[in-house]
Amino acid sequence: MTSAAVQHVSEARLWARHMELAQHGALSKGGVCRLALSDEEIAARKTLIAWAAALDLAVSTDAIGNLFFRMEGSEPDLDPVMTGSHIDSQPAGGKFDGAFGVLAAFEVVEAMRAAGIEPRRPVIVVAWMNEEASRFAPGMMGSEAFTATKPLETILAVTDDQGVSVAEAVQRVAAAFPQVPEIPLGFPVHAFLEAHIEQGPILEAEGKPVGVVTGIQGSRRFRVTVTGEEAHAGTEPLRKRKDALLAAIDIVDGLREAFADPDDIVKFTVGRFEIAPNAPSVVAAHAFFSVDLRHPDWPTLKRLGDMVGPIAEARKGPCGVETREIATSPSLDFPATLTTLLDEVATDLGIDHMAIYSAAGHDARQLHYVCPTAMIFVPCAGGISHNEAESSEPGDLADGARVLTEAVVRLSA
Ligand SMILES: [Zn+2]
Repeated sequence: MTSAAVQHVSEARLWARHMELAQHGALSKGGVCRLALSDEEIAARKTLIAWAAALDLAVSTDAIGNLFFRMEGSEPDLDPVMTGSHIDSQPAGGKFDGAFGVLAAFEVVEAMRAAGIEPRRPVIVVAWMNEEASRFAPGMMGSEAFTATKPLETILAVTDDQGVSVAEAVQRVAAAFPQVPEIPLGFPVHAFLEAHIEQGPILEAEGKPVGVVTGIQGSRRFRVTVTGEEAHAGTEPLRKRKDALLAAIDIVDGLREAFADPDDIVKFTVGRFEIAPNAPSVVAAHAFFSVDLRHPDWPTLKRLGDMVGPIAEARKGPCGVETREIATSPSLDFPATLTTLLDEVATDLGIDHMAIYSAAGHDARQLHYVCPTAMIFVPCAGGISHNEAESSEPGDLADGARVLTEAVVRLSA
């Protein structure tokens, strides 16, 4: 049996709100530049707050600038069900990445209000601060601070390329909304659901409007520095050289061989490669490159990542080498209780769906560590995202919002 709320999910309203939100930071080719804590983002927050007022939601913020909209439950002391995503974008981003998750969450509350459903647990719509890392890096600052996966002070000290700190930018946003109270950072959550566009091509290719996300692919990121010796390209004999470039090439080749995967699941990328002095007639004294390694299975990713250092050592030739791991995100599986619930909900609603893995990271990664968490994907055209051309079908967005609505109704009952 499905609740009365789902029939009140409005495809037209959901679409219109995407278009309205996209006015804040609108770019000429249909995309959006709405950097975290910018003027454009402040304007977008104003729009959300206006919608929330009409729904009689209690607005609040916290020390990192997350934005919460609370629909009270009949038992207000119970841990809330939370749903949302982010409203910041890439510098040339689209209308749907992040925005869909927040607007679908608003649609949940709209539909529950219209159906006269009072939840037992509070329902909180959230817009996490700075998911994208385009102004302040790394991203997911709001969800990391909320879940205490990173200390608040560390995050607040980060600066943008103008030298403005997160602390200053958060203060500026808070000053723009004197009527929005600040609540303590982090609180217990009964369950978190994030709806998002897939940012990949699978749902579209399979013709499914909804993906039940089973987990998030992890990554390990390394920086490898090879140290050789500068020498004259004309006079130094080859057998005496310590050529950092040739050693680095050899190491990359060794990694490529080690990570060769007939099933094409391992993602191995050397995206940055620099040498010094980078002069045509000088043997390279230094080489520096990045290694980005991803695999959905954490034990496999762990095993492969552990090979980077030893392979670099084995292939360094006469040079010195240093391998540093700068970021580790384990692959994770969302709890079966929630993926089963989403599967049942989609089935009950007669919405065609499939299980899918998230190749990209999301705020849900952080929430996963503190409460039962899951995600719903909807297709985006051509799998294109982080691009002005990003687009989704209104009907697919609405189907995603329907699954989200029914799931939130059941979790908050
Ligand atoms: Zn996103």
